[in-house]
Amino acid sequence: MDELYTELCVLQSHLGNLVDRIRQNQIKLHRFQTLEMTLLTLNSLRELVDQVLEDTRVLFELDAVSFVLVDEKGELERFLREDGLNVDKQPNLILLPSGEILDRTFRKTLRPYLGCYKPEKCAAFFPRLPDTSSSVALLPLYRRGKLMGSLNLASTDTMRFSEQMATDFLDRLACVLSVCLENTLNFELLRRTSLIDTLTGVNNRRYFEQRVSEEIDRALRSGECLSCLFLDIDHFKTINDTYGHQSGDRVLVDVAQTIRSMLRNNDVLARYGGEEFVALLSTGTGNRAATDVAERIRQRIADREFYDKDGEALKISLSIGVATLDPTRVSGIDATEARLIEAADIALYRAKNNGRNCVVSNGFVEPSFQETSQQCVAGF
Ligand code: GH3
Ligand code: MG
Ligand code: MG
Repeated sequence: MDELYTELCVLQSHLGNLVDRIRQNQIKLHRFQTLEMTLLTLNSLRELVDQVLEDTRVLFELDAVSFVLVDEKGELERFLREDGLNVDKQPNLILLPSGEILDRTFRKTLRPYLGCYKPEKCAAFFPRLPDTSSSVALLPLYRRGKLMGSLNLASTDTMRFSEQMATDFLDRLACVLSVCLENTLNFELLRRTSLIDTLTGVNNRRYFEQRVSEEIDRALRSGECLSCLFLDIDHFKTINDTYGHQSGDRVLVDVAQTIRSMLRNNDVLARYGGEEFVALLSTGTGNRAATDVAERIRQRIADREFYDKDGEALKISLSIGVATLDPTRVSGIDATEARLIEAADIALYRAKNNGRNCVVSNGFVEPSFQETSQQCVAGF
């Protein structure tokens, strides 16, 4: 009888332990699900990085989390910076110029590493983690056999991650994160390349059309001027006819880069079509200042030499039309992208008629019932 009772007690204790384990696993599962659901709703690499670095650490009560990403072409760093993340101030975000370290760590099995912190294996994954008795989990992130990065978790609790541990939850998290990472990177690349002109590397007309309405809204909110420049290469057909289409392409690239270098970072430059570019000078640039910028660009292009595909020097010039939207002068139906673009385009047409290689400003966009002001500001 006593024996039976003891056996029952042992069974009850086992059962109690099992129920405890099930409860703990339920809590764990819930945490993993919460993180996975959030990861699946993110829209950009910036959001993904923020989520992984901050929320994972808090949700799983870890001492350190780092995120390693292979960034061979420096594109990821550019995407993150463009989205306002100061990469230099993120010690736990590690962008690697090659996948060498990941290959060395995970190559054979593509399996996670769980166990004690070994400096020779883990130092590259935790630049700030002190070399103490921590335990770590290094989770490879890969798709179609290619390593894209790793998610690295660390705890000062030596028992938190050990080699014998079942890794089902962690495997699943790494798998979900890998899919999200691949999707996000594809989306970021598509988003950006679809807005860039493949020949010149500056933005394309589609990007300009998106930005111009945003910039007008911003100007209307802030009450500050927004200026638009239309820049067209003079007699470009003759360049093609004389030096060949390939040389024409080289000139286009060079002109685009020269104009870009003379604008501020937050000014927009786009190839509007063929040999015509359009620039939006960020809010706050009045007509006088915009005309001065245009004149400096015109002069620079006229002064310097360009080269054909065989290295032979050639000269080119630009005609530039300028117009400015001043929200204190116009509003409603007159404060539109169509009116601003039309005004700058008319100014460009006048510059061509004035003999080319000159800047013409159409002044400010005026209310539609008034005549627009016309003045030739600077010329050849
Ligand atoms: P204008 O001074 O009146 O602007 O004369 P233009 O010769 O520059 O203007 P036109 O519109 O007559 O010719 C534009 C030329 O630009 C014709 C076209 O073949 C060339 N072009 C357009 N896109 C490209 C391109 O991507 N590469 C090259 N090489 N040429 C291009
Ligand atoms: Mg032209
Ligand atoms: Mg043209």
